[in-house]
Amino acid sequence: MGATIVQCKKCSKLYQSFGNAPYCPACMDELERNFELVKEYIYEHPQANAVEVSKETGVPEKDIFYFLREGRLSVNEGSGMLLCENCGRSITTGRYCEACKKSLERELSATLGNAADKRGQTTGLGKMHVDFKNR
Ligand SMILES: [Zn+2]
Ligand SMILES: [Zn+2]
Repeated sequence: MGATIVQCKKCSKLYQSFGNAPYCPACMDELERNFELVKEYIYEHPQANAVEVSKETGVPEKDIFYFLREGRLSVNEGSGMLLCENCGRSITTGRYCEACKKSLERELSATLGNAADKRGQTTGLGKMHVDFKNR
C-alpha cells in the first residue's frame, strides 16, 4: 500500500497517510493521551455520559465519539447515544449494528480507502464504560 498525502482533519497539517489513521501523527499522539484521560474518568465514574466526560476531562466530545466508533469505548445498550451509520439502530460500540456489519463486510473490503466521512447522529447522553477486554 502506498502512502498518500492528506490533510489532517484536526490541525489542517499535511501528512503522509497509510490509510488507517484519520489524523496526523501529532494529533494521534494527543488522541492517545485523551483516551487515557477518558478511560480513567470512566473507570472512576462508570455512569458518566459523553457530555460529562468531555466537560470533566477537557477532551472534545468528537474525540470521545472517535473512541466509540473505533470500538475502544462502548455505551450501554439502548442508550441511543451511538447509532448504526447504515440503518440508524442504537448500538453500543463501533459504527454498525451486527446485522449491517455482516452485510457490509463484503462491500467494505471492496471500498476500503474510500471511506465516506459520514457521521451517525449522536445525542451524547448515553452512559458509557471502557471495554477493558480490548486493551
Ligand atoms: Zn493533526
Ligand atoms: Zn444497522
